[in-house]
Amino acid sequence: MDSSDDEGEEYLFKIVIIGDSAVGKSNLLTRYARNEFNLHSKATIGVEFQTQTLEIDGKEVKAQIWDTAGQERFRAVTSAYYRGAFGALVVYDISRRTTFDSIPRWLDELKTHSDTTVARILVGNKCDLENIRAVSVEEGKSLAESEGMFFMETSALDSTNVNKAFEIVIREIYNSVS
Ligand code: GDP
Ligand code: MG
Repeated sequence: MDSSDDEGEEYLFKIVIIGDSAVGKSNLLTRYARNEFNLHSKATIGVEFQTQTLEIDGKEVKAQIWDTAGQERFRAVTSAYYRGAFGALVVYDISRRTTFDSIPRWLDELKTHSDTTVARILVGNKCDLENIRAVSVEEGKSLAESEGMFFMETSALDSTNVNKAFEIVIREIYNSVS
């Protein structure tokens, strides 16, 4: 939480999106923040984060959501990226098992770099690709359960559960600080 004063309480939460390259992190963010999708998206350059405002219990809650600039390809997401984060979306691609196998490594990295309790959701993205699914819903659920995380399958392409996934994290943070 960044600010809260006596009149008109306001909240600002930093949330990070992590996971292997090309799982759809940038598209999840643009779908949520701008309702846009890009079929040929390249590594995000320049944009550090996008802000989305919600109202919870009549209070203004701002989520500042950070996207990597593609550094994850070089396994070089810096500690500055994680600094001050209260929430995280940890993303894999349901059509590529290697991205699911990487999840424990991302969770370790998140733990190493965070100094508070982080509200975490495991996100199986690209659930529109049912015909080439390589990770079952059950496997996702079970990993999330064992790690004490929320779980959701999403599609940034057709919008399935994208708002829900972000809002679960934002509400969880809000509940823990309010
Ligand atoms: P990032 O590297 O994790 O940021 O991944 P991007 O958002 O750049 O997406 C990588 C590729 O996957 C792009 O070609 C996207 O169009 C595609 N993509 C992202 N989300 C989805 C999705 O939900 N469904 C499908 N079918 N493709 C997606
Ligand atoms: Mg990206």
